[in-house]
Amino acid sequence: MLAATEKSTAQVDGLDTAHSWHPFTQMQEHLAHPRLHIARGEGCWLYDTEGKRYLDGNASIWTNVHGHNDPELNAALTDQLGKIAHSTMLGLSHPMGSELAAALCGISPDNLSRVYYSDNGSNAVEIALKLSFQYWQLTGKSEKTGVIALTDAYHGDTFGTMAVGDSGVFHDRFSHWTFPVEHVVSPTCEEAGGIVGEEVMAASLMQLDELLELRAANTACLIMEPWIQGAAGMRLQPRGFLREVAERCRKHHVHLIVDEVFSGFGRVGPLLVCKEEGVEPDFLCLAKGLTAGYLPLAATLTTEPIFEAFLGGFEEYKAFYHGHTFTGNPLAAAVALKSLQKLQARIASGEHAATIAAFEQAVAEYAVGSPLFPVVRQRGLAAALELPEHPVAERTGLQVSLEARKHGLITRALGDSLLVVPPLVISPDEIAYLFQQLTRATEVVLNS
Ligand SMILES: *Cc1c(COP(=O)(O)O)cnc(C)c1O
Repeated sequence: MLAATEKSTAQVDGLDTAHSWHPFTQMQEHLAHPRLHIARGEGCWLYDTEGKRYLDGNASIWTNVHGHNDPELNAALTDQLGKIAHSTMLGLSHPMGSELAAALCGISPDNLSRVYYSDNGSNAVEIALKLSFQYWQLTGKSEKTGVIALTDAYHGDTFGTMAVGDSGVFHDRFSHWTFPVEHVVSPTCEEAGGIVGEEVMAASLMQLDELLELRAANTACLIMEPWIQGAAGMRLQPRGFLREVAERCRKHHVHLIVDEVFSGFGRVGPLLVCKEEGVEPDFLCLAKGLTAGYLPLAATLTTEPIFEAFLGGFEEYKAFYHGHTFTGNPLAAAVALKSLQKLQARIASGEHAATIAAFEQAVAEYAVGSPLFPVVRQRGLAAALELPEHPVAERTGLQVSLEARKHGLITRALGDSLLVVPPLVISPDEIAYLFQQLTRATEVVLNS
């Protein structure tokens, strides 16, 4: 029954439709379809305000690691809550922030020793870009202003991240107000289809070589998502590409910014892709999985030499002037620290690898070769199942997502790509359920 302060689903829905404006959502469409209000979560499951449950096939927008309502994460959070919910990192410190910073440096490539907190992935990238720009000014190379990025990149929705991104309709309207960036063709491979992608990788590297020969002296940094371009629809990159790019950046004195906002914290396998590839970037951006999907927190890691370039007397104005009110929030830091410990244990025990193996097997069993999904991509616990081509206006992907709800599954489609991004702790039974329900929902929509 309803608690004294709880409203009925109809009441909540009335408030939402009257007052909310949802992100990345055509509100006309949203208002025309039945809306779903998630009231609570337990493990990999979400429960709506009517008590109906759904498997969280989207990891609450790619963030969830250990499931919802995890007792250990809750305890870490409430423990910190009993001390203080928020102070500030602007000139003050707090124990969880310091401990987490040390832990993040501990898991990162050896050269990364400094952590700059913020509260979302876009800001983690903004900070890396601005640090790079300011570094070159402080070291007498203010002509190094350019940025290189990859085609189909997504680094966020703020102006700097829109500039370095290449997300077409997401950002085209704002291109007038963004700075110019050179885009190198992103090499892709269709791993589930067996194409390794060596040729496309060679072509991308040749283009990068040419660009660096011409422009390195005027280039501050190169930014890329390693292994997978999530928001582009889980576009897979050949392994080893990051290492090749890193070598070239080093040789040409161009900073390398690795955006692991999506790929980090086990999503595509390793705790960090850059570490797995043996790459030492100048900047590493972390967010989504950092707090296991609990609270907003992001981190930009960098090196001691870059940190030192910003040191000086106050009157030299070398300090880095960028900060957000909730930067490094203690509650978020406490959860992140506990989540990291749990994730490291899960990886060490082999459970994480076993989950990925089960997921891979399910993709092979239910999706690869199915006429429902002509193209399938997967790496780690991320997959994209592309529907046969339909006119955009038919909104086939959205229809499948809406139908999937009736089958007890939450997914979010990107156009006609069904993206499957479950919590990292999903069980083999839940994986089977996920693909069975997704297949059913797709059959219903395609056969209607
Ligand atoms: C989601 C994402 C971002 C942006 O993070 P927000 O927290 O949504 O601002 C940046 N880079 C990558 C690779 C992402 O997937």
